[in-house]
Amino acid sequence: MITMEKPSASLWRKIKPRYNLSGNICKNCSTAYFPPRIVCRKCGRNSKMESMTFSGNGEIISFTEIRVPPDTFRDEAPYTVGVVKLDEGPLVEGHILENGIKIDIGTKVKAAFRKMYVDGEEGPIYYHYKFEPV
Ligand SMILES: [Zn+2]
Repeated sequence: MITMEKPSASLWRKIKPRYNLSGNICKNCSTAYFPPRIVCRKCGRNSKMESMTFSGNGEIISFTEIRVPPDTFRDEAPYTVGVVKLDEGPLVEGHILENGIKIDIGTKVKAAFRKMYVDGEEGPIYYHYKFEPV
């Protein structure tokens, strides 16, 4: 009988690039990308791409409250999603945890690794980054 290991938090933390905010940067023009790109949009064939893990620090540039969620996030509603501009430049979408702090455009946030959802009653637990005010 074949048994499959349930994904655990430690396993998910090892998966790059989606779960570690890993992208890359063009050493020719210093433009950072998330997710990583093979070729720099600005430099084309002169690209010099190098792997980069982002700090997770950034600021909210757009957000909205979700009151009618997809089934996956039914138990979390209402919740906030938004676009964060990372300090290194790339724009990243994600859940934003308000943690009792009123967020706004320009609120400084940091990415934190959190449980995203459970797939069914006994199913695996999925993890992803969420942004929290700092
Ligand atoms: Zn470039």
